[in-house]
Amino acid sequence: MNQTKVNLLNYDHQALKNYFESLNEQSFRATQVFKWIHQYGITDFTKMSNLSKSLRERLKSLTEIQPPVIAYTQHSQDGTCKWLIKLSDGNCIETVYIPEDDRGTLCVSSQVGCALNCSFCSTARQGFSRNLTVAEIIGQVWLAVRALSEQEGFHDKKITNVVMMGMGEPLLNFEAVISAMQIMRDDNAYGLSKYRITLSTSGLVPEMEKLREACDVALAVSLHAPNDDLRNILVPINKKYPLEQLLPVCKKYFNKEPRRKVTFEYVMLAGVNDSDAHAKELVKCLQGIPCKVNLIPFNPFPETLYQCSSRTRIDQFSKILMQAGLITITRKTRGDDIDAACGQLVGRVEDKTQGSRKRLIAIRSARHLQQLTEN
Ligand code: SAH
Repeated sequence: MNQTKVNLLNYDHQALKNYFESLNEQSFRATQVFKWIHQYGITDFTKMSNLSKSLRERLKSLTEIQPPVIAYTQHSQDGTCKWLIKLSDGNCIETVYIPEDDRGTLCVSSQVGCALNCSFCSTARQGFSRNLTVAEIIGQVWLAVRALSEQEGFHDKKITNVVMMGMGEPLLNFEAVISAMQIMRDDNAYGLSKYRITLSTSGLVPEMEKLREACDVALAVSLHAPNDDLRNILVPINKKYPLEQLLPVCKKYFNKEPRRKVTFEYVMLAGVNDSDAHAKELVKCLQGIPCKVNLIPFNPFPETLYQCSSRTRIDQFSKILMQAGLITITRKTRGDDIDAACGQLVGRVEDKTQGSRKRLIAIRSARHLQQLTEN
């Protein structure tokens, strides 16, 4: 009988050690395999030359190393690279690589679709399908490392930073996201420091309270509005966790390390949240919180009613914040010509929140897949 094999990509270092223990194998063997998988990108047990032949055969019979697959790659004129990644159940997600002079940032997805329904985000349009597994989350990093090393013109491009800012709400897939980030941090895998991994959340207060203990990384919070009335519309989870609950958690988040700051993301929507009055209200809101503000020019997508604020409006908004002493950075829009910018990631999703298997929502990346199957 053909038993399903255990996918070792689902295990962080500790989980892999536990698994080896359950097989009565020594724990340092788990570390060796962990390195083969993540540092050398090896999926074939026969190539793991420091393991005995019998262990290799045993692993081969019980386990596999199965990353998702890249279905389609797109390159932006600005060097940004977007991969459409196909999962074993046919769902697709997107992962984006953003090269800059001094760093290379990988934007990783945590769910297929998203349940949170933020009104200005295209991922929200497609509804929620399911959480990604650890293998599918860390698999994006695994694939990107390999793809960059093989892609012409990208050989020298490294992943120095990871942002959990792709599709989905990472804190609604807590356990898997934590394990995946632990693998990113592990010196036997990707060895990224806690300052170089950023988790972005729409503000799930209970999970934020657990996050710091579970895995210490940089935190970004999608604020987008300086008061509850407006935030209830833009980020509806605010009705459950209003500002009076969210802001105190942000204030104390890094209280043991006063030099670290929470980043507040604020999407600039023309005529919606971008007036001088909003800026002043935001200053009040953030008083006493060790933080930075990241202004994100709105990235449009088909059928959205929002528009991005003008450059002068963004500059004026930013000036008010800076004059009040807030560190404010306007995020550069990258990869928008390939729909890889913030809020433009869609993948292709079967919308289970609508209860209909037939309801495949037509979205842009679906077209890419279609092109693929036509060619
Ligand atoms: N669910 C997480 C990660 C989302 S993506 C979160 O809410 O934080 C990362 C950032 O892009 C978030 O701040 C999100 O609000 C923002 N974003 C979403 N749609 C956008 C759009 N169309 N234009 C600009 N930023 C957008």
